[in-house]
Amino acid sequence: MSNNTSSVTLEQLASLCKRRGFIFQSSEIYGGINGFWDYGPLGVELKRNIKDAWWQDTVQRRDDVVGLDASIIMHPRVWEASGHLEGFSDPMVDCKTCKGRFRADQLETTACPQKPSKKVGACGGDLTEPRQFNLMFKTFVGPVQDDSSVAYLRPETAQGIFAQFDNVLSVSRQKVPFGIAQIGKAFRNEINPRNYTFRSREFEQMELEFFIPPGTDAEWHEYWVKERLAWYSRIGLAQEHLDKYVYGKDELAHYASACVDIMYQFPFGLQELEGIAARGDFDLSRHSEYSGKKLEYYNQETNERFIPHVVEPSAGVDRIALAVLCEAYRMEWIPKEGTDGDIREAEPGEKLPAGYEERTVLRFEPIIAPIKAAVFPLLKNRPELVDTAKGLYRDLQRRWPVFYDQGGAIGRRYRRQDEAGTPFGITVDFQTLEDQTVTWRERDSMQQIRVPIAEVADRLMDALA
Ligand code: ATP
Repeated sequence: MSNNTSSVTLEQLASLCKRRGFIFQSSEIYGGINGFWDYGPLGVELKRNIKDAWWQDTVQRRDDVVGLDASIIMHPRVWEASGHLEGFSDPMVDCKTCKGRFRADQLETTACPQKPSKKVGACGGDLTEPRQFNLMFKTFVGPVQDDSSVAYLRPETAQGIFAQFDNVLSVSRQKVPFGIAQIGKAFRNEINPRNYTFRSREFEQMELEFFIPPGTDAEWHEYWVKERLAWYSRIGLAQEHLDKYVYGKDELAHYASACVDIMYQFPFGLQELEGIAARGDFDLSRHSEYSGKKLEYYNQETNERFIPHVVEPSAGVDRIALAVLCEAYRMEWIPKEGTDGDIREAEPGEKLPAGYEERTVLRFEPIIAPIKAAVFPLLKNRPELVDTAKGLYRDLQRRWPVFYDQGGAIGRRYRRQDEAGTPFGITVDFQTLEDQTVTWRERDSMQQIRVPIAEVADRLMDALA
């Protein structure tokens, strides 16, 4: 795939996402709420496909990983043991001039709300000294709101896995090394949510805790970094847009022996999609200490008992969805019907060349595309075309999310699906009635071929393998 992320702006992407129903501002009719987003009909499918691809590769197709779905609100002691209560905070400054609150470590990239051409601090505002702000959302459990009923919305899914380590180990018949995986919501009261959905206050994580024998940390860490990087190609992110950030020894948490972030070249810069950390036995040891319950593994063959170490690949679904959208977005010039020429990507600011028209297309990988194929009758007032098209649609619909559209000129219908990222268009036309073939149109090349109607489902299956 060619480099695209430099040419799409977040504004263009957000406008398409709203127009086509990928992402809406939460509570928009009330003016929105900062840091919260809703996924519309296409967005929810996109996210589901990302989660399914992760689950398939991380759990379903492996013998050594099992799944879990833990509760969002947990016993408050969990967050004492994990260190979140004490240390899960960002440095914050207040501006006494504009009353804004900002992350002290992001002042150089944060515009002043009153003088947007200037950065916070450089605008002449009177800033306080930085102080720590805990990012966990607090709530109360039960009808009495006092110190004894305080609870927290989880800021990560990982702790649910550590807290259930013993139960899962005893029911799953797994042996170390093995992993427990979970997908779920996490909440962080970010001081400055920004870059569209990239930094939100409510988001989804896909986390794996892979438990290993002590001393094998480096090799398993390397293994998971490789696996996870390769996974991003499977969902359509070009390797040239991905990078690794390797933590220096001085940047690591005291208990960690290695950490690598997988970074993606977003329009707003190279930013983290996923962190992969070798966390030693810190988490299980702390939960043992705070709960009083031994969280150990007994190796029957060697007769050894030990606290497993863990390697944790921790990814954000919303950031991956944003990366996939940035990667897929193209503004293209396409030759007008009856004209020769190739499809090509529009340069930023370039005027539409003569003989061409513009199209916006989302070039998703088929496995990630919200809708896999659209079925069209060439004309809506010809029952023989409509009946065949609807029959094919109903058949495909049993297996995949597909779309039926009979309204408007066929070219317009194709173009709408290009914007939704639908990889294939299938048109029932007059030739279908003669030889039982349909037009199969490919989104990226816009090439059209004839395919027997009986082979459509198999072709789709191959494309989605
Ligand atoms: P950052 O440094 O960007 O705040 P982090 O290092 O604190 O991220 P982790 O605690 O490692 O993030 O969380 C794992 C993953 O969860 C991240 O790689 C990211 O994909 C996702 N994530 C974390 N915070 C947010 C957020 N505020 N909005 C969306 N996704 C997030």
